[in-house]
Amino acid sequence: MLRHHVTKAGCQDLLDLLQMLLPENSLPSTNYLFNRAFDKTSWQLHHYCLNPDCGAYIGILDVESALCPMCDTECKVSEHLGKGYYFMYSSLRDEIKNLFENHNLKDKLALNNNSDCIQDVCDGALYKRITMLKGCSNISLTWNTDGVPVFNSSSYSMWPVQCIINEVTLSEQKNFVLVPALWFGQTKPKMESFLKPFIEDCRLLESEGVVCLRTHEGMIQDAELASVNSPVNGVKGPSLLTTLQCFDMADSFVPDYLHSVLLGVVRQVTGLWFDNKVSEVNVKSPSVMQEIDKRLKSVRPPSEITRLPRSVKERQKWKGMKRQKMEEMHLHEVISGAERGDVCKLIEGTYWLQRHMINAPPSPTIADIKTKWPYLFIQRHIYGHFEQLTDKKVHRCLELSIQECGQIINEFFKSKPTDDDIRSILSRAENDVDAMVIQLLLAHFKEK
Ligand SMILES: [Zn+2]
Repeated sequence: MLRHHVTKAGCQDLLDLLQMLLPENSLPSTNYLFNRAFDKTSWQLHHYCLNPDCGAYIGILDVESALCPMCDTECKVSEHLGKGYYFMYSSLRDEIKNLFENHNLKDKLALNNNSDCIQDVCDGALYKRITMLKGCSNISLTWNTDGVPVFNSSSYSMWPVQCIINEVTLSEQKNFVLVPALWFGQTKPKMESFLKPFIEDCRLLESEGVVCLRTHEGMIQDAELASVNSPVNGVKGPSLLTTLQCFDMADSFVPDYLHSVLLGVVRQVTGLWFDNKVSEVNVKSPSVMQEIDKRLKSVRPPSEITRLPRSVKERQKWKGMKRQKMEEMHLHEVISGAERGDVCKLIEGTYWLQRHMINAPPSPTIADIKTKWPYLFIQRHIYGHFEQLTDKKVHRCLELSIQECGQIINEFFKSKPTDDDIRSILSRAENDVDAMVIQLLLAHFKEK
């Protein structure tokens, strides 16, 4: 793969091709399984005693040599590696964790069949006796190991430990085969040695299970326990979004540049430097401040970037100042100032400040927002705000709809006025058809 620079897609195609030619299940079926099978980092070499009468498990050797705990034979790593007195093991726990985290194992688990009909392992009496397996995402393994001859003419054989997950639906089972241990040699493995790390992992899995990264279910559980003042694992409480069936609370949120970098790391770091809250890291020296300002102002961004870097002294103030400026303008010029170019620019430039206030807990009242952002309630600015938020040009959509249907609606009400309000609007005979259409519709649906 490496030598020929085979791409991921190329590798998958090759696997598909070989899959067609070879007996079923002789190759890992997906790129992921293929990489796992040949990923050297996940395999560890476990040594066993080279004394043929002993063969006891020794473990992972990170020293040159060790004594066998059972028979005191000296075991040298180099000799072991040369003659193959080791087997390979890859953590079953990590593998299962990975399947849950990255391969939607949870979604592939079949629902328990509660009838008496026996269809697979999960319907058997022994299985039903294991109370732990009644939990919704607990799983059990069916595993086996047997020798596979490798070469026709020699006695070498390979002993893989193979596991399937009983709870995975039959159609998916072949995609979730695990091979945690692999023995290669001229003799049969001594089971007590070969199975030791595997059984140890199974025991840990039985008692502790695996802890997976943030999942949708986990976040919902945290949300139930949390409140704004005592978050659980960073979750502050329930969210409306959980009512959406297809929205995954863990994966559907995309960390974006604006919030993660600009309003996240950058804001935090500059806050630490300049806000004087943590004295150890606060930048006090005026000459350092001057230097920072000098460097900031010397940045010459390309013309697409309309906002030039500003002095750190203005850091906190400038957006707030813009807001205040608009509030003052509104006091003097009232609503007539709304269409002025500078108001438009100010409104655009403070979009994030507007979002910040609207979304701040506890939610502000409309009256609050109106006092702080009087110009936001002007048609063109509220449309602009909505467009930036949703990427929908409400105003344009409305115009197009009126162009398309306005005349028809008008004609309809003229021929069949549905009530007195409609008649009175029609009698005014305004020139502005657009405005009339909206008034007619509002009157007809009794909206004010
Ligand atoms: Zn020994």
